[in-house]
Amino acid sequence: MLSFDDDVKSMPGLQPMAALGMQTSAGFVPSSPAPAELPEEKKSSISEARRIRAEDKRVINGSTDVNQLVPFKYKWAWEKYLSACANHWMPQEINMSRDIATWKDPNALTEDERRIIKRNLGFFVTADSLAANNIVLGTYRHITAPECRQYLLRQAFEEAIHTHAYQYIVESLGLDEGEIFNAYHEITSIREKDEFLIPFIDVLTDPAFKTGTPDADQKLLKSMIVFACVMEGLFFYVGFTQILAMGRQNKMTGAAEQYQYILRDESMHCNFGIDLINQIKMENPHLWTAQFREEIQGIMQKAVELEYRYAEDTMPRGVLGLNAPMFKEYLRYIANRRCQQIGIDQLYPGANNPFPWMSEMIDLKKERNFFETRVIEYQTGGALSWD
Ligand code: FE
Repeated sequence: MLSFDDDVKSMPGLQPMAALGMQTSAGFVPSSPAPAELPEEKKSSISEARRIRAEDKRVINGSTDVNQLVPFKYKWAWEKYLSACANHWMPQEINMSRDIATWKDPNALTEDERRIIKRNLGFFVTADSLAANNIVLGTYRHITAPECRQYLLRQAFEEAIHTHAYQYIVESLGLDEGEIFNAYHEITSIREKDEFLIPFIDVLTDPAFKTGTPDADQKLLKSMIVFACVMEGLFFYVGFTQILAMGRQNKMTGAAEQYQYILRDESMHCNFGIDLINQIKMENPHLWTAQFREEIQGIMQKAVELEYRYAEDTMPRGVLGLNAPMFKEYLRYIANRRCQQIGIDQLYPGANNPFPWMSEMIDLKKERNFFETRVIEYQTGGALSWD
């Protein structure tokens, strides 16, 4: 009989739990069979007692088996996973030929419009890799609810699709790859955003980091707030608005279509992250102290400043009917919304949305039928034919 405490390294085909990424203490609960000498009814009642009960699951520091998706407790996470799969798309499906012609035509775009495109890609080509690393190497292993892990796996793949989409635009337009992919080192307004984010990712990817104390759990929660509410929920919005504004003026429509799909995915990432944060708050109310909330407000304030500097750098003058001061109001409006979504007092009372069309675009993305043809294609195209 194999005991999970035995050294399994010598057994062919078996790996120690740690090597498989399983949590021997918190996540994985081996179900050893009931002793042979017990009567059948007794054996079954013992094994039933070992079975997972939904009410025992926890998002962090849980002790139920992370390998058993059901019974569901966090149905909202499973539903978001299903919606994300139904929205599947790939960058090569979008026709880039008009964009290529526009980019090559010296009169089709102004220098300021070209600057926006290059700065945009300069930020995004590495941003989604940071997001993917944060999930795969950071957040994932600290989450003990398998429904939430399932969504995070899907999300990680979507981050890969987004990096692919940005690379595909760079390649289609024949941009200087060295310039674009190094922008996060070389362009101050981009570097500052990434330098702000990276410590919050590093804390979770540190192999020595473990949850289970109020201090460590607050660090995890803070990192998750930065990731969902600042990175995906704020730092993407100047860039998204600029490229979508370009598309609305019938310029670079292929790139704008790629960004529309990305925006739809990202608003779901942001909403999932917020649901996860609120669930952790509910299960661990002791983490949500006044001091912690104040710290989060400081982080949001700093993030608004950094994103505003990025807006100023990418738009030294008015362009496409946009200008940097309009984004000051927009970023304050978004920051208020993020604070409200996680139950933090608003920082900028009365801030208005100068781009109501962006809200329409985000809301539209929730409507399945907006992308009906593509979604249906995937749902049927994914089925196997046996003849
Ligand atoms: Fe994302």
